[in-house]
Amino acid sequence: MKDKLSIVLPAYNESKMICKTRAKLAEVLEKAGIEYELIFVDDGSKDDTWAAIRTASETYPGITGIHFSRNFGKEAAIFAGLSQALGNVVAVMDCDLQHPPETLVQMYRLWKQGYEVIDGVKADRGKEGVLYKVSAGTFYRIMSKATGVDMKNASDFKMMDKKVVDTLLKMPERNTFFRALASWTGYRATAVEFDVQERKEGESKWSLMSLIKYAFTNISLFTAFPLQFVTFSGMFVLLVGIILGIQTIAKYLSGTAVEGFTTVIVLILFIGSIIMISLGLIGYYLAKMYEEIKHRPKFIISETSGVTTVDSKI
Ligand code: UDP
Ligand code: MG
Repeated sequence: MKDKLSIVLPAYNESKMICKTRAKLAEVLEKAGIEYELIFVDDGSKDDTWAAIRTASETYPGITGIHFSRNFGKEAAIFAGLSQALGNVVAVMDCDLQHPPETLVQMYRLWKQGYEVIDGVKADRGKEGVLYKVSAGTFYRIMSKATGVDMKNASDFKMMDKKVVDTLLKMPERNTFFRALASWTGYRATAVEFDVQERKEGESKWSLMSLIKYAFTNISLFTAFPLQFVTFSGMFVLLVGIILGIQTIAKYLSGTAVEGFTTVIVLILFIGSIIMISLGLIGYYLAKMYEEIKHRPKFIISETSGVTTVDSKI
C-alpha cells in the first residue's frame, strides 16, 4: 500500500483560515511528493467555518469535513479527526498556520526512518507576555513530573504512526490531554523544533480563565498530587495546632493564660480555609470521575462532507 498522510485540523471560528491553510498545505505537500488527506473538524463554530470546509471538500479531492453539533473543545475535535484518519501516518496541527506546514515534511522523513511519534516542540514561543511564559512554564514543570514526559515547550503539533493513533482511540476516558498522551504510549519518539508563526487571521480562542481551567483539568487528569498536598497541609496544620496547644496548656498551668483570643481567631481562619480548599479539591476529583462514569460521547457529529467513516458514538 502506498503511504498516505492524514492531517487532522481542529477548527473553531476559522472561516478565513480554511482556504488559506488548505492551499498552503497542498503547495508544500505536493512539492514534497507526499500523498495526503485533510480532515477538517469544525468544533461547532459560530461563523461560517463549516460552509468553508464543505466548499473545500466539494472542490478538492482528499478533503473530509466533520461538523460538531456544538463546541466540544479542541481535544474532542482532535479525537474525532483521529478516528476518521485513513492514512498509515497521521498528523495533528492547528488550522491557523501557526504550525508551519514545512515542518510536516521534516516529520514525515523522521517517520520514514522508523519513528512512531514525532513531537513538534516550540523553539520560540512566539509573542507571549512574561506572565504567560512564567505560568505556562510552571504548568509544564508540574505536568512533566506528573507524566514522566518532558513537556517543556510541548504542543499539539504531532505526527504519529497509525498504530499510535489506534492505541489512543482505544483509551476509554472522556477527558484527554492529547499533548501528553501520544508520548505516554511509549512508542519510539523523537522531536522536531518549529518556530511558532504569527496568527494571520482570526484570534486566539484562549482567555486567562480558560487557560487556568485547562491547566487545572490536565494536572488533575495525570496526577493525584493536589490531593496529597491537601493531606500534607493537614499534617502541617496539625503540627501547628499541637505546638499552640502545648503552649496554651503551659500558660494555663503557670497561671498566665489571659488573651489567646487572637490565636483562636487565626487558627479558626487558617484551619477553616484549609478545610474548604481540601473539600473543593476532593469535589473536583469526584466531579471528574462522575463525568467519566456517565460515559457520554466525547463529541456529537451533526454533519459530514467528503468521504467519512466516523460516527458520533466514539
Ligand atoms: N480550537 C478548537 N476548538 C476550540 C478552540 C480552538 O478546535 O474550542 C482550534 C483552533 O481553531 C485552532 C487550534 O485549536 O486551530 C488552536 O487554537 P488557537 O489558535 O486559538 O490557540 P493558540 O494558537 O492561541 O494557542
Ligand atoms: Mg493559534
